[in-house]
Amino acid sequence: MKKSLRKKMSLSYILVTIICVLLISLLSNFFLKELFKDYIVQDHETKNKAIVSAVSKYYLGDGKWNNDEIKNLGVDAIENGLFISIKDVSGKTVWDAEAYNNSKCNAVKNRLIVNMETHFPKWKGVYTKDEYPIVNNSNKVGTVEIGYYGPFYYNDNDILYINALNKILICVGIVSLCIALVLGLLMAKRLSNPIMNVIDTAEMISKGNYSEKIQIESDIEEIDKLATTINNLGTSLCEQEKLRQRLTRDISHELRTPLSTLQSHMEALIDRVWEPTTERLTSCHEEILRLKRLVGDLEKLAEYEGENLILNKTKFNMREVINNIAVNFEKQFLDKGVQLILNAEDISIYADKDKIIQVIVNLISNALKYTEKDGKVEVNLLEDSHFVKLSVRDTGIGISEVDLQYIFERFYRADESRNKLTGGAGIGLTITKSIIEAHNGSIVVESKINEGSEFVIMIPQS
Ligand code: ADP
Repeated sequence: MKKSLRKKMSLSYILVTIICVLLISLLSNFFLKELFKDYIVQDHETKNKAIVSAVSKYYLGDGKWNNDEIKNLGVDAIENGLFISIKDVSGKTVWDAEAYNNSKCNAVKNRLIVNMETHFPKWKGVYTKDEYPIVNNSNKVGTVEIGYYGPFYYNDNDILYINALNKILICVGIVSLCIALVLGLLMAKRLSNPIMNVIDTAEMISKGNYSEKIQIESDIEEIDKLATTINNLGTSLCEQEKLRQRLTRDISHELRTPLSTLQSHMEALIDRVWEPTTERLTSCHEEILRLKRLVGDLEKLAEYEGENLILNKTKFNMREVINNIAVNFEKQFLDKGVQLILNAEDISIYADKDKIIQVIVNLISNALKYTEKDGKVEVNLLEDSHFVKLSVRDTGIGISEVDLQYIFERFYRADESRNKLTGGAGIGLTITKSIIEAHNGSIVVESKINEGSEFVIMIPQS
């Protein structure tokens, strides 16, 4: 089942907090208990010594004892889980806790056993008796026997202390959980709000509202990048859509003219309004050729664009190739009165020869097409750190800044009315760019209207 980001983040926060709180509680509980146990064992020793020292002070001499103080001390000790039995040197009992109040002693022992078994289920307490001599003025005057449940035990105060500690840990746990829940919800909200915004905009874009833009500024880098990417996607889809519409319009326009001419000519011939003279049939044939050229252009585009381009690389001399092309163009340049200047270094390159020829032909024929009489076209070829740099510069009509960004798009023609006369369908540069990119090269153009254009291509030498 899919969960929302907000729910998922809040749950993760709570889970992490529960695990942390549980771990901290368990560990602190364990360590505190262990430390507390050590403290209790040490404290027991101290208490025993204090009892022995006190009892030795309550010896008054001549076999006499301060019985009142001894009783007070013994009763206090019972409350602390210590059961004292004092004997003089002759072995006669001076004071004995069980003899004094057996039921009270049993009640204290039982309570202590219950306390210990509740907190330490594995506790195996054994009633132990430690015997200490009572020394007065360097003379042994008796013995004190201290009974207790060993190896350690908790009295009521100790249990109160442990319970308070546990309560503090539980409170800290609950407060941490609440804080984690609130923080989790806040964080999830901060994350999910802009993502929801991005989703809404992406949905609008998917429905064709390409102008829709994400208006959020997030301080989370990834979200900011996501928003920018979706905005750019919208812009590029919008441009693609415009190009697609233009493409459909262009193709239908290109098709309509020869088809209408053919239709009217054929109808006239069928109705015998016209005689099928050679002139009329030639005119029909020309229209058919126009149609064929257009279909050919479309096929070429499909062949050269995207994944379909397969390169057949060989090593060849670029200067020779350019010289041959220039020879083929010589007559056209002469006819138009445009000067062709070549500056080519002797460079060899490992590339697809036919396709590179196509690139150079496209660039030179465009330069000639868009340059008026008495203009100049200059082709420069040089080596530039493992790259072959080829530039074709003309003094022609130039390309406006708006058109410059689109000229590599399919069927884009900067000046439609003018270009229709020149016969170009607007795919030459698209193919050129595809070929250059397939060779891991690049193509850039600089142009100023009425001053001329310069196309520069860079292709890796190998
Ligand atoms: P076309 O077959 O129409 O020339 P291209 O893809 O080769 O198609 O070129 C696209 C458009 O770029 C052209 O229609 C033209 O407007 C512009 N263009 C290309 N080369 C030049 C140039 N050297 N001078 C001016 N405009 C150019």
